[in-house]
Formats: sequence, C-alpha cells, structure tokens
Amino acid sequence: MNQGKVLHIDLSSQTSETMERYDLFEKYIGGVGVASKLLLDNTPPNTNYEDAPIIFATGPLNMFYPCCAKTVALFKSPLTDNLGESYAGGKLSMAMRLAGHDVIMITGKLEKPHYLLIQDDSVEFRNAHALWGLSTRATGRILKEKSPGEGKRSILRIGVAGENQVRYAMVVVDTIRHFGRLGLGCVMGAKKLKGLVITGTRNYKVPSVKSYRTEYMKIHELVMRTGRMDKYDILGTSVNILTLNEMQALPTRNFSSFTFEGAEGISGEQFADNVLVGKSACVPCPIGCIHIAQLRVQFDSKHRDYGTIYVPYDYELIYAFGSNLGIGGTEDVLQMIERADVRGLDAISSGVVLGWTTEAYNKGLVTTEELDGLIPRWGDTSVYLKMLDNITTHPNEFYRIAGLGIHALEKRYGGSEFAVHFEGNEATGYHTGPANIVGHMVGIRHSHLDNAGYSIDQKTLSKPLTNVEVGKLLAEEDTWRTVLNSLIICLFARPVFTPDVVLSALKILGEERTVEELNRIGEEVFHLKVQFKSQEGFSLDTLSPPARLLERLSPHGRVEKSTVEEIISSWRNSHDL
Ligand code: SF4
Repeated sequence: MNQGKVLHIDLSSQTSETMERYDLFEKYIGGVGVASKLLLDNTPPNTNYEDAPIIFATGPLNMFYPCCAKTVALFKSPLTDNLGESYAGGKLSMAMRLAGHDVIMITGKLEKPHYLLIQDDSVEFRNAHALWGLSTRATGRILKEKSPGEGKRSILRIGVAGENQVRYAMVVVDTIRHFGRLGLGCVMGAKKLKGLVITGTRNYKVPSVKSYRTEYMKIHELVMRTGRMDKYDILGTSVNILTLNEMQALPTRNFSSFTFEGAEGISGEQFADNVLVGKSACVPCPIGCIHIAQLRVQFDSKHRDYGTIYVPYDYELIYAFGSNLGIGGTEDVLQMIERADVRGLDAISSGVVLGWTTEAYNKGLVTTEELDGLIPRWGDTSVYLKMLDNITTHPNEFYRIAGLGIHALEKRYGGSEFAVHFEGNEATGYHTGPANIVGHMVGIRHSHLDNAGYSIDQKTLSKPLTNVEVGKLLAEEDTWRTVLNSLIICLFARPVFTPDVVLSALKILGEERTVEELNRIGEEVFHLKVQFKSQEGFSLDTLSPPARLLERLSPHGRVEKSTVEEIISSWRNSHDL
C-alpha cells in the first residue's frame, strides 16, 4: 500500500504536477511526518504566511481502519507567525486517497479569487468571484452544486473572516468538521483561494482480503465493545464541562475564575437532553462523536419565516462561548457557535478575544466608542454576536486589531495580565495545573492536544509525581502523539491504537515496522518541527506562562514559576533540546 504521491499545485502559475516521494513516506511514515519535511524544504526562513505553502497530508492507515479518518494541514500560522498545524476529519482523507493524492501541497498565490476542483488526476482552477463575500454555508452549498459526479467528495471553504485576514480564521471541512486553529482560513484568504473540492474514484486492493477483514473487525471490536471510546460515543467531549467545573478547572469569565455557576445549563447532559438531534462521524469511523444540535432561528422580524439550523458542538466551543463569556444557556452558546461557523472564525480564539475585551472594557482599557458603540457584559449574547460580526468585517481600528488576536490587543491596549495565550495562540479550556501550563508553553502548536498536560494533572491529583517525572511524561506524550499524527489516527482513538495494534494494522497493509522504529521516527519528526519553529524565531529560553494562570489557584493549588521551570528543564532534557 505504498504511499508517496504528492500533488503539487502552484497557484501563481495555475499549474499542477504529481511528484513521487516514496522516500518521504518510508522515512517519516506519512501525515505530519511527511508534511513537516515538505514544509521545511519549501519554506525559506521568515517567509510571509501568504507565500509559504499549505500542505495537506494523509497517512498509511487512513481510509482502511476505524478512526483513521483525519488529515493534517501544515502552514505558516498568521496568528503566531510560526508553525501552523491543524487536523480535520470529515471525508477529506478518504477523498484525497481515492483521488490518488497522499499529499496535496499548495504553493504561490492567486491574483483573483478562485476555487480548486480536483477530480482524480485533473486539477481545475475555477473563478470564485461570485463566491467572494459569501458565508461558509452558502459557499459549501454552491460548491456542492458545481461539482456533481461520481466518487467520494470532500469540500473545504473559507468564510469572510478568511477573506478579510482575521488571523484566526478557520476552514470548514464537509460542513461539520474544521481546520480550526492557527489561521489556515486566513492563509487561504491571502492566497485568494476560497475553497477546494476533492473527488476520488480509485479503488485499492489490500494484500490479503481475509487477513484485512479479520484485522479490521478486531479494531472495530476494540472501538465499539471495550468501552475505551464510550466517552466520545455517548455525551462526547462536552461531558468535560461538569467534570472540570467540579475540579475548579473550568475557565470562566476570561479565566478570572474556574467554577461557573451556570455550568449545569451548558453541560453535556443539558445539550443531550434538550437540543441534541443526531450524531455524525468522519469517514471511516464507527464512533459518532460529532454531536449535532438543532437551533431554531427566526429569519424575519415580522414572525413570517423560521427555520432550523444544525450546529455541531463540543467541549472547547462550549467553554469558549459559554463559561468563558458567562453565557449559561444551550441556545445562546449554539447561536455563538453558529455565527462563528458561518463567518469562518475559530471559536476558541474568538471566545478568548471576547473574554479579554469584556475585562478590558470593565477595567477602562477600551471605551464604548472604540467598541463601535457596543458594551460587552458577561452573558450578553446579543452584543457578543455583533462583536463576532465586527471582528469579521472590522469596521474600525479596535476590531481590526481584535482580528489579529489577543497578543495584538494586549500590545496595543495593555491588559497583558489577563491576556491568556501561549505564544499568541489563545488558550484552550483547562486550568488543571502545572502540566497543562507547561504542555501549552512547550507544545508545538501550543495546544492541549500536543501532549495532554491536562490529563497528567488530573492523574497526579491522586498520585503525585515529581516535576522531573512530569516533564518526562510530557515529552513521551509529544513523541507518541507525533507517531499517531504521522499515521493519522484520530487522537480520540489512542486508547485503542496501542503500539501492538498499530504494528499489526500496518503489517496487514504490507508495512513492517517496529515499536523502536516508530518511536525513533516520532522523535525525529518532533525535532523537524522544532527546527521549523526555531527557524521562525521560537525560543525555549524566552517562554513565559500567562500571568493569570500563575496568579489563580488550580486544582494543584497555585502554580509556582519555579515548578514551571523545573518541568520545562526535565522536558528539554528528555527531548535532548
Ligand atoms: S472519533 Fe470522532 S473525531 Fe475521531 S475520527 Fe471518529 S468521528 Fe472523527
């Protein structure tokens, strides 16, 4: 099942070619491994984000096994001015592989808006003039109409936020999935690329159908019958709302407190009981972890026109638009998620920017006039909805800066002591303790997904570890997650895909590896990413944690700066950095 086909599309010349890079897949497995090498090789130091390539990569298990359904996108992040790494599910990896493209690398930029129609080997550049200015929803509908035909299809598109260069603009994938974080939508907007439609009709043959079927069913059983993924199957990640609230680790009102009195009203249970109407899944995944709620909308102020919109939700979105803004009702949270979605804004960054804005207003750092007449108050959804619109269209200087991210806001208006971000990336929804803080600081994308510090904190509440041990655990998690992300296995499925399961799944497809080899490659790829980050100016020596997270109590008590430094030191030693 050798992978190695890299479709290179150059936007500037409107040409494409397929390169055979089996060497890269042999050396780096696939996914983020191959994409990291391609990004490094094709991005001279300090290249602007609009001139750097976008790389979409699949891995060897994609399409063949349950939960192997993601695609990685690597790019230069306009938000952090450093490595952008984001994952999306949906049908993208299957469509890419069936079209015969293990990787799609997009370089250059267009002069006028276009979208790409990729059907197997054919790549068409189509004028997107009429789509420019449309929402992600309308664009998706039109792209679907314009690309009838056979095969598995995936549709990517940006909204107005991406066109207008909001640095945390995202990309909608197949309506219910997203390349959410670090601003891929902004990069596509700068390249004048409104969307991509990828359709594939190829077939693949496995070496032995009988062995493959046995292996597939073995993994399917592990996913469905052993309870290892029940959390995602039942309430989904929104189950975390009450858990974190009880731990006093749920960011509330711009991380000023970590228990939310309205948590019951936005809990996973509340969503499931009142607004959940269905679950959906990436292809191919038997777990329907994508929880979809119905939102009743009134289209017309004279009570003539109503409709129902279906909105996917999960924990991070509920934290960002719920507790972090003092919003305590499911319908209000859904309205915020829906607005960000159609505008093409990343929900986490948007929620943190609005949280900072509210506190900055309360402290007199920004005025009503600067906010274009709006007065932000905790829990006031109608004002926050207007602010999302303003961030998208930036009618004045404040909203233009808000669209650059919280780091730009603190530089311009002050308020660093309550600006919760890591190297410019707005924080995710955890204040569990020191492993979470360090995990975000040193993590390649400054996310909880890099090394799951939040999970280490939860475990060490009952079984304490030394700072050196915590640093080592974070480093081990970095490495193994890099392996999983090179294979492109959904991280929710990591309890299923143990090293033994991974090796046997690969072997059935004709790829023999050892655990030592996988770990060695994981570490090597991790260092490739560090190399890219260093090339773009990132330094471990100048890192500092968000002041607010040191100032406020976590479930582990107050996190001391010395604790952070000791964990970082152990982590560095473990990675030999
Ligand atoms: S567990 Fe959820 S996110 Fe992961 S592949 Fe399955 S449906 Fe997609």
